[in-house]
Amino acid sequence: MQYEDLYRRSVEMPEAFWAEQAAAIDWRRAPDAILDQSAPPFRRWFCGGLTNLCYNAIDRHLVDRGDQLALVAVSTETGVTRELSYRQLHREVQTFAAVLHELGVRRGERVVIYMPNMAEAAIAMLACARIGAIHSVVFGGFASHNLALRIDDAKPALLICADAGMRGGKVIAYKPLVDAACEEAVHPPRHVLVVSRGLDRELVMQAGRDVDYAGAAARHANSEVPVAWLESNEPSYVLYTSGTTGKPKGVQRDVGGHAVALALSMRMVFDVGPGQVMFSTSDVGWAVGHSYNVYGPLLVGATSLLYEGLPIRPDPGIWWQLCERYRVRTMFSSPTAIRVLKKQDETWLGKYDLSAFKWLFLAGEPLDEPTAHWITDGLKRPVIDNYWQTETGWPVLTLLPGLDMKPVKLGSPGLPNLGYKLRLVNEVTGADCAANEKGVLTIQPPLPPGCLSTVWGDDQRYVQSYFSHFKELLYSSLDWAIRDEDGYYYILGRTDDVINVAGHRLGTREIEEVVAGCGEVAEVAVIGVADEIKGQVPIVFATLKAASCDAGERQRAASAMQARVVEQLGPIAQPARTYIVDALPKTRSGKLLRRSLSALAQKADPGDLSTLDDPSALEAVRKALARGPDLRHG
Ligand code: ATP
Ligand code: MG
Repeated sequence: MQYEDLYRRSVEMPEAFWAEQAAAIDWRRAPDAILDQSAPPFRRWFCGGLTNLCYNAIDRHLVDRGDQLALVAVSTETGVTRELSYRQLHREVQTFAAVLHELGVRRGERVVIYMPNMAEAAIAMLACARIGAIHSVVFGGFASHNLALRIDDAKPALLICADAGMRGGKVIAYKPLVDAACEEAVHPPRHVLVVSRGLDRELVMQAGRDVDYAGAAARHANSEVPVAWLESNEPSYVLYTSGTTGKPKGVQRDVGGHAVALALSMRMVFDVGPGQVMFSTSDVGWAVGHSYNVYGPLLVGATSLLYEGLPIRPDPGIWWQLCERYRVRTMFSSPTAIRVLKKQDETWLGKYDLSAFKWLFLAGEPLDEPTAHWITDGLKRPVIDNYWQTETGWPVLTLLPGLDMKPVKLGSPGLPNLGYKLRLVNEVTGADCAANEKGVLTIQPPLPPGCLSTVWGDDQRYVQSYFSHFKELLYSSLDWAIRDEDGYYYILGRTDDVINVAGHRLGTREIEEVVAGCGEVAEVAVIGVADEIKGQVPIVFATLKAASCDAGERQRAASAMQARVVEQLGPIAQPARTYIVDALPKTRSGKLLRRSLSALAQKADPGDLSTLDDPSALEAVRKALARGPDLRHG
């Protein structure tokens, strides 16, 4: 079937469409009703249906593919690779689930998982799903304060951690961070379960609270743990958003809708089916990690490749080498990661046999054209930019090679995904935008299966954050977009990234796109700061590809950027000040922290820095601000 026909059916006859899609997973009891919309903006999918994520991800494949690889976890940090067949994964998950039972974890209780991207993290998630406990994975790179905030929001019965993670060869002990977080939290867990890889030589266990996983697992080497059959709308997990724009929100996902949406996306979007291999370079701590490192591939009987380490260690060919070794069909990564590779010798791209490789999907932030060109040319494969949010759990905008591959348009994350009734509306009036007219990207309820059910513990915040922006009940993505005549969308930045220069509204993202087109620029962030005359003016912060440069070189680069902006966007967009910096502040998920930059530039407190990746980036910005702009205008 063609994309157009199926898409139309998915949004015009959602109940019929999703009833068909529900057949992709096994139900203990079939749903009584496909959709309940009696209390909008809340909605419930597959009401009354009983199912289980772990059963669908593992048990049901045992007959046909028990010996096929389910999970391959490669760590270039520890040097260990674990290859688990479906049968072995089934065994390990049951053992883990038995340990959860022994520790008194019950259905509906929360379990915080604070681990690096290792097999046991996925096993712990699946074990929770098996017994109906609600997991909440906290990215292992977060510091103890972040962890404490999330613990207090989720109020877990148990916290599962690794003894340590590693980054670039350096051991980072997790347990002391967990101890500090439990100390700080008002609702610490009853127990801490420690999965030790022997990395932290000084591991200290707290008697009565802490439990060593290996010891507990030995008691349950052969335990069988039946799956808990859950009503489709019971929560499966809570995951906090990245916190780019403020306090993270606890995204709550259901069971049945989540499974059905992921199964659909695996086939129609990612083009991965039984026996095929998907490599998502994300971390289990992010939404992509939940959907496409763990649940998605397993739900369809595929093999998931999990990677712990840097993309350039031991060398910049490591990912392509893994693609060759495991015959990866579809890879999922982020523009940030590709930009890291782009700084390396490009011959690494051609060194390995990628004959099984079909698609590279990139998501999480805007894919700039130079990066898109570089990787498309290097791989000689289509690179598919796709747009989604932690909230949605699967792509909102994408191309669907598993269904009907449409042409890639550079700069566009593609077309509306199945089930998403998108509306581009005027920010003020809420009226629908015409082609090429800029508006706010919204989803008309009901949100399709797989999208969040609510904000954990805070229905009010769910309504307030997402559905209170327009007169009509619409889910606001809080992102700007335009749609061209062919129906392709372009994301223009976040609604809070717009600046008003002398009455003209400019998207900082548009200016960034133009600056990024300068050959010497590595990365760029544009913010608006207050100006007495114009209201606001754009300020550019950019890093250069050259490792070091003197004042003259900085000034030359800044002039080139300025000229390009004026040429492409007009004099109104002319940056008032341009700073060449050594680094830009980013979240742990690789997104620019514009709000911190903006605060620094206006001599204000940089605000909540709990999601900041590298504190030295703030210093780099402070240094440049103290030195003064490399180019000033007006
Ligand atoms: P918070 O909501 O806590 O401020 P966040 O929005 O950064 O954090 P995520 O859910 O990880 O948290 O990110 C989703 C956002 O990332 C989108 O709303 C969009 O702004 C951006 N994004 C994701 N994919 C793309 C893409 N392909 N192109 C452009 N922007 C993208
Ligand atoms: Mg967001």
